[in-house]
Order: sequence, then structure tokens, then C-alpha cells
Amino acid sequence: MNIANNLSEIKSKIPRYVKLVAVSKTKPVEDLEVAYKAGQLHFGENKIQELVSKHDALPKDIKWHMIGHLQTNKVKYIAPFVHLIHSVDSVKLIKEVNKQAVKNDRIINVLIQIDISKDETKFGFSFNDFELIFNDNLLSTFNNIKVIGLMGMASFTNDKNIVRGQFNSLKELYVKHKESLSLEFLSMGMSGDYNIAIECQSNLIRLGSTIFGKRK
Ligand SMILES: *Cc1c(COP(=O)(O)O)cnc(C)c1O
Repeated sequence: MNIANNLSEIKSKIPRYVKLVAVSKTKPVEDLEVAYKAGQLHFGENKIQELVSKHDALPKDIKWHMIGHLQTNKVKYIAPFVHLIHSVDSVKLIKEVNKQAVKNDRIINVLIQIDISKDETKFGFSFNDFELIFNDNLLSTFNNIKVIGLMGMASFTNDKNIVRGQFNSLKELYVKHKESLSLEFLSMGMSGDYNIAIECQSNLIRLGSTIFGKRK
């Protein structure tokens, strides 16, 4: 695997406005260093312990994205430094992120994860619950958390029409609320489906194996 080549090839093929998060979960710090030296600053992890230890080991100008399901009792470990949490999937978690952000005297940017695939194993608000929460104006009571976009994961299937349908459903929700909620980011697309995601207006893709090679 030539990590630097992979990065430059991906970047040459995606539109400029699309931001790339390099998903480095399970990969050693040395691999992240190679990507960093090639100019990659945004990295994504899905486990708190791994995120914290990599943050400790690597240069401090790296922007860390939490992309995996997050337990409320672990928010405190990443609250001092996390750049963006993609996976906010409950009101309980919104409250805890806000609380930890207050403690750290900062504003934490988050994306709301929407359950677009309805797969048993995936997390996120249903479309209905999202509408209820945002009509409720619940978020305006939390001053240290800022919702800047939406995130979704499509089903693991080779059927591109299913994937496209799921991405389009999230795009519609994003477009509907973009102005009123000042949303900036639509985080969708992984190694297997990022081209479809970009066609569906994603502007934040999360790629792991296409950059770093397959995980064990
Ligand atoms: C692992 C992971 C990715 C990257 O997966 P690849 O298929 O290796 O690109 C993206 N998003 C989330 C939420 C992940 O957990």
C-alpha cells in the first residue's frame, strides 16, 4: 500500500469542495504519519481509546473526527480536543456532549447521525425523530454544542440503487433544513460508495481502506 499515492489519487478525482476524512481505525501510528506528511490533516477513528492514544502520539495540528457510536460515559475523554463528532445519535448524547463542552470551555461541533439504512447494526435518529427534535427547538437550549450537518451510512450491499436511494433520502433532509439550521456538512460515503455519495451532494467523505489498505 502506498498511502501517499492513494491519497493524491483520491484527491485528484473528487471535487475540490469535498472534504476527505482519512479513517485510520486499527492502523498503526506510522501509517497516520505517512498520511500526515503527505498533507492529510483530518483523521477519523471509531473507538475512544484508540482516538485518545493516537491524539497523544501525533502532531497537535491534526483534526480528529469521531465517527463511531459513542457512549455517553466516554465523551469526557475526547471533549478537550475532538474536532467533529459525526455520530451523535441520541438526545442523551447531545446533553452529555454539551455538558463536557461547557467543562472544557469550548464549543463542540457535531453532526447528527440519521439511520438511513434501517439495518439492525446501525445507529442514528429516525427521520421522524429528527423532525420532532428540531421542531422542538431542543438544541437552542444547549449553548456549547453546534450542529453543523448530518451523517449517514448506507447498507452494505452491491445494489447501487438501494445505496443511492438511502443517500438521496438524507440529501433531501439536509437540503430541507440546511438554511434554517445553518448546516454545512453532509457526511456520507465510504470506500465502497463514495462516488455515489458525492453524486448525492455529499461534501464530507470518510475513507479508510482505499487509503490505508484493508483492515484485519
Ligand atoms: C470504518 C468506517 C469508515 C471507512 O470505511 P472504509 O470502507 O474502510 O472506507 C467510514 N465511516 C465509518 C462510520 C466507519 O466506521
